[in-house]
Amino acid sequence: MGGSSPLPLSLQSKFQRARAGPLARLRDYRTNLNILRNIIFALFLLRTFRKSFYFLRGHGILGSLSLLYHSTHKKLYHIFLNLPGVRSKVAAQLTAARLDLENKLAPTGPGINRYLHLPKEPWTKEQLSAELESLSAMKRTRWEEGKVSGAVYHGEDSLLDIQFNAMRLFSVANPIHADVFPAVRKMEAEVVAMVLALFNAPDTGAGVTTSGGTESILMACLSARQKGYAERRITEPEMIVPHTAHAAFHKAASYFKIKLHVVHCPAPDYEVDISRVRKLINPNTILLVGSAPNYPHGVVDPIPSLSKLAVAHKIPLHVDCCLGSFLMPCLAKAGFPSPFAEEGGFDFKQPGVTSISVDTHKYGFAPKGNSCVLYRDRQLREYQYFIAPEWSGGVYGSPSIAGSRPGALIAGCWASMMAVGEKGYIDATHKIVSTKLTIENAIKEHPILKATLGVLGKPSVSVIAFESLDPAVSVYDIADGMSRRGWHLNSLQDPPGVHAAVTLPMTRSGAVDGLIDDLVATVKEEKEKVISEEVTGSGVVGGAVVKEQKKKGNSAQLYGVAGSLPDKSIVEQMVVAYLDTLYKA
Ligand SMILES: *Cc1c(COP(=O)(O)O)cnc(C)c1O
Repeated sequence: MGGSSPLPLSLQSKFQRARAGPLARLRDYRTNLNILRNIIFALFLLRTFRKSFYFLRGHGILGSLSLLYHSTHKKLYHIFLNLPGVRSKVAAQLTAARLDLENKLAPTGPGINRYLHLPKEPWTKEQLSAELESLSAMKRTRWEEGKVSGAVYHGEDSLLDIQFNAMRLFSVANPIHADVFPAVRKMEAEVVAMVLALFNAPDTGAGVTTSGGTESILMACLSARQKGYAERRITEPEMIVPHTAHAAFHKAASYFKIKLHVVHCPAPDYEVDISRVRKLINPNTILLVGSAPNYPHGVVDPIPSLSKLAVAHKIPLHVDCCLGSFLMPCLAKAGFPSPFAEEGGFDFKQPGVTSISVDTHKYGFAPKGNSCVLYRDRQLREYQYFIAPEWSGGVYGSPSIAGSRPGALIAGCWASMMAVGEKGYIDATHKIVSTKLTIENAIKEHPILKATLGVLGKPSVSVIAFESLDPAVSVYDIADGMSRRGWHLNSLQDPPGVHAAVTLPMTRSGAVDGLIDDLVATVKEEKEKVISEEVTGSGVVGGAVVKEQKKKGNSAQLYGVAGSLPDKSIVEQMVVAYLDTLYKA
């Protein structure tokens, strides 16, 4: 620019001298910016490289390719479902499914009184008790006859009376006001202390009560996430859970933005694959998880091996004993093998175990709405606390999700635990695990059952799960056949299966024999259907093979058809329809 400049030389040099400072600074600034940009880019590359490295190490090359294949398949299928012609068909079928659900779950019509507004005049006592009687007489599954898996864990009048009495005495109590309701605070602390003792917590042990297993698990995951942030500045937390771990861990991952690694639990044991857990551990891992036992198959994960990993990598380990609750600690005293007894057990005796969830409202026989989460020390518990020191309503703190909490339920829990006592829990464990064994042996030994059904894994407590060994017989049709006979068993997927969680009503005389008889009858029936289908199927009518369209039951519909689709959005929409129906007044 100097040569073509119209300015006289003297002035030019003056001008340049005046500008030299800012120009050089600008150039410096540019170089600095470039360096900064390069550093940021290098960091970005490093991060991407690190992420890819941990991904590849975690899943292996084949695993990563398979994940890629599945996600592509899913995306393509999703596009297919949204093609104009397909989309309207899917929508029509979903509407039909929704109506079907409404008719089943929330029927309306003559003879059904619906109340959609407050009564203008208060109801009389007589009116109220008449209506409540008729509500309680609504047609339902007879859990009293032991025909329901899980759901009601005790249900005997003697214990119910004790609970009602305790709950009446504390019906207005709310532990958020510890000074107003000192007795409820005392009972709550004692419930936690008694459960800590059952699970061999060290002297440093601490815990809280919650509204149920899900909240206990949410709190344990939150505590681990907060610990990871506070002590290791982890901002992209990840946790590693078995494929068979409870859905509450998926909920925690979703609520608290924790990346979830779901680890395969291979047949025939269905225990979590430890080598895969090890490979997935990386600097962002905030929590390992094992179940004692898991919900689907009643199988206890290898807690001692998980504990070793947790200690070696200094990562918290949560043991989900929600379902196992008071059965697990009572197994040995009730005369059954206790998992990993020689290797230090499944509870706080394992040095790596940092938290345990225990549902007092399952085999602790407390009223529904009770659970505990236990920690190895107070610091871990503190990580789940919520504190708002500057709230306009006053300095606020609460231990878990809820603010106000039902003191009545705590009283009901405390009273149940005192009324059943250690002896009562050991007796109950004996009855429940014996009944589970009766079913297990029947499936393994009864000629009709063993030819068609196979027990999944080695269940050690109250749950017994089975699959169909006969490719022509769907295990979901067996679940539906059992439903027609008045049973309420639970369907599982991946692999397809059905389970029964034995509770006290099922241990009462006759119930388990009825279950086995009905299972035999159902299996026979399904086998006969297969044979008759083969016969009609080969009948040639007018040159065409006639195949009778089987009417599928609920389980078969949901898991057989929808469940086999690669893209789960249809299943999700069916679940939305179900959840919506729950609130149809
Ligand atoms: C029942 C259960 C839970 C928690 O369930 P809630 O319904 O919230 O009490 C957690 N884990 C397992 C293995 C369970 O069976």
